[in-house]
Amino acid sequence: MQIINLGSGSKGNATVIESEGKLLLVDCGFSRRQMLKRFAEAGFNPDDLCGILVTHEHGDHIYSAEKLCNEFDATLIATAGTIEGGNLVTRNKRVAKYDQMIEHENFSILPLQVSHDTEEPCAFLIENDEAKSLFLTDVGTTDNLDIPVMTDLDYLYIEANHDSEMLATGPYPYFLKQRVSGIGGHLNNEESGKLIKTLAMQSPNLKSVMLAHLSDKNNHPDIALQTVKKTVGDLGDAELLVAMQKTPTDMIK
Ligand SMILES: [Zn+2]
Ligand SMILES: [Zn+2]
Repeated sequence: MQIINLGSGSKGNATVIESEGKLLLVDCGFSRRQMLKRFAEAGFNPDDLCGILVTHEHGDHIYSAEKLCNEFDATLIATAGTIEGGNLVTRNKRVAKYDQMIEHENFSILPLQVSHDTEEPCAFLIENDEAKSLFLTDVGTTDNLDIPVMTDLDYLYIEANHDSEMLATGPYPYFLKQRVSGIGGHLNNEESGKLIKTLAMQSPNLKSVMLAHLSDKNNHPDIALQTVKKTVGDLGDAELLVAMQKTPTDMIK
């Protein structure tokens, strides 16, 4: 099994999970051209795509999802709200419902509700014979997350969007600062660290944690790592990684 993030941030998000030669994408937020370039960089063949999961309809998550699904005959997997909100028309699709497991090829996929300013946003818990992974980005608050189902994770891909101090003193206009830090926005480094700590405690075999969706204006990889490390304390044997906007990063070392 491989998990490779193809890029993450406000300019686009996409992660590939490979299992027995089949590829699943979580989000498809770059142009077709960029997606294919990054697939090649990561050593994947897009003909092996069996599904594209989309967390919500913001452009940095759906940009070429429809195009790639139709071109490579992959199944779009998203909530009804996301399909409608993003106007996604594909030959093959499966409608995701919160808390209802979807079996697709050799993946078991559980969509989970999150708080974000879109129709029906979700996180995905994805399991195969080898590992269980959680993909959680674009989350305004951790308050109503279904933490008890997020157990025994092997891999955790989680948003650490901004440093609250950098956001407060940074270049964004007031309304945007409110949006980003509000319940329809994003997790800051400290909130992310607290959640990682909780999830790590119920995941004794956690192998790696990847911080994702870092803001290029209101965060920095070193600051995110530092804050999360300070908040989490001991992560045991799990490795802490950061997803980059421009280049693929391997989540399994
Ligand atoms: Zn986003
Ligand atoms: Zn979003």
